Amino acid sequence: MDTAQLALLALLIGVILGGSVALVVIAAYRARDRAIEHGSTEVPDGVRDVLAGMDDPAVVLNPSGTVLAASIPAAAYGFAEGAVPPSDDVLLLANAARVGTATDAATLRLPRAGEERVVSVRARPITSRLVLVVLRDVTEQERVEQMRRDFVANTSHELKTPVGAVSLLAEAIDSAADDPAQVRAFAKRLLAEATRLGTLTTRIMSLSRLQSEQPAAMRDVAVDELVVAAIAAHATQADSAGVEIRRGGERGAYVHGDPQVLGEAVGNLLANAIAYSPRGSHVGIGVRVVDRVVELAVSDQGVGIAEADQERVFERFYRADQARSRRTGGTGLGLAIVKHAVQRHGGEVRLWSRLGQGSTFTIRLPRAEPRAAPRGRSKKARKNPKKTADTARKDSVA
Ligand code: ADP
Repeated sequence: MDTAQLALLALLIGVILGGSVALVVIAAYRARDRAIEHGSTEVPDGVRDVLAGMDDPAVVLNPSGTVLAASIPAAAYGFAEGAVPPSDDVLLLANAARVGTATDAATLRLPRAGEERVVSVRARPITSRLVLVVLRDVTEQERVEQMRRDFVANTSHELKTPVGAVSLLAEAIDSAADDPAQVRAFAKRLLAEATRLGTLTTRIMSLSRLQSEQPAAMRDVAVDELVVAAIAAHATQADSAGVEIRRGGERGAYVHGDPQVLGEAVGNLLANAIAYSPRGSHVGIGVRVVDRVVELAVSDQGVGIAEADQERVFERFYRADQARSRRTGGTGLGLAIVKHAVQRHGGEVRLWSRLGQGSTFTIRLPRAEPRAAPRGRSKKARKNPKKTADTARKDSVA
């Protein structure tokens, strides 16, 4: 090997060694940058942009628990940049997440605009020093879940009484087999309990259907039809209670809805008005159209409802007068069904009542315009559209 070749080899080795050293140095610099970034309390690039686009409340906390960055909705829960979180529980959760324990999620009660909210809180470390805390308001889900639990508990409780009575009465009939008068008396009570059980079951089913599905058979419904049907269905109850039903108000209004669901709601109001009225009094049922709203009111001169109970009577199984409700075979579900049925149709139910004077329940529903009859047609023709269509066809042929 001559000198020139040796020089070339040395140069090559030098270049290789130099390049390797340079690479090691660059890698070391990069690793150092990464370590600095990871251990820093600077919010990493892009995190603020993500927070700015978030609909949920979310914050980044540093090790001393100061909020370094926050999404806009976080302000409603009292989180502010540069301040500590409004709840120590959030801090505890963030610390747990930073040290990697399993308790990095919890359901907390936090104030929002002066109101306590149920919030699901999750904390995740985003660097070795910073923790991202994301909150989700689950108040509504909690409320629905609580209602479902209460409904199941109340339903079982309500069913237990008549079911128990039915088996006791059956045993009583068996032991009184030799005494026809007693057997008849027990059989009458057995029938009453069985009827109560039947009503309760039907109402529970109505209510759960209303809470789970939309009314199915939607069509234009003549409010007069609902009124006439409810009066006819409750004529016997009114007769035996010595209560007169009086019909009043406007005619010809329409609403859009499920006639069966609406009919049940009107029927429940009329049944209550009769049940809670004294003998010799009258119950009114009437319709009024105010702007684009149809108001169907059922009023009575009965016992009335105390102001404190007026909100609560629409709750499931709530009875303002326990004893009377049981005596009249009440289930405590009638008004809950009315409320849900009306709300499902985009309406509301209002109550006016005074103890000892009576009550007025008003169902308010959006007014529907039934498909208008062509102009110039007589009232008779509008009553019989098929005939009119036939006549029109004949006319056009002629
Ligand atoms: P119930 O089957 O017990 O009548 P509802 O849900 O229909 O159940 O009514 C709830 C409670 O509201 C009743 O127990 C009763 O105390 C009260 N209530 C309902 N309607 C009337 C009314 N027209 N007059 C007085 N109290 C009423």
